[in-house]
Amino acid sequence: MQGGNSSPCTVCGACCAYSDEWPRFTIEDDATLDRIPAEMVNDQLSGMRCDGVRCLALVGQIGVATSCAIYADRPEVCRACEPGDHACDMARERHGLPLLAR
Ligand code: SF4
Ligand code: SF4
Repeated sequence: MQGGNSSPCTVCGACCAYSDEWPRFTIEDDATLDRIPAEMVNDQLSGMRCDGVRCLALVGQIGVATSCAIYADRPEVCRACEPGDHACDMARERHGLPLLAR
């Protein structure tokens, strides 16, 4: 998920509700991880906690209005998912949302 008022992510959120294995931690430093509320981190401390496939940090309704509750500290994989890339396409397709023009 990317931010900014003009970002399609603010009316999407599909990649944040795709798989409980998606929002995992990779190269984040300890200081960043420490800023993520403990209740939003999974039991293995390996990534974000999810309710089913939906990341607990996802706020709002998918395809309508969404945001990330920990946007400034979100995992690297979340930063890497950009509107219109392959991962984005997969996630939007899963949620019945139209693919974004490249
Ligand atoms: S699926 Fe694409 S458009 Fe939707 S939040 Fe993720 S990166 Fe943004
Ligand atoms: S941490 Fe934020 S950007 Fe990453 S999956 Fe969760 S809601 Fe989406």
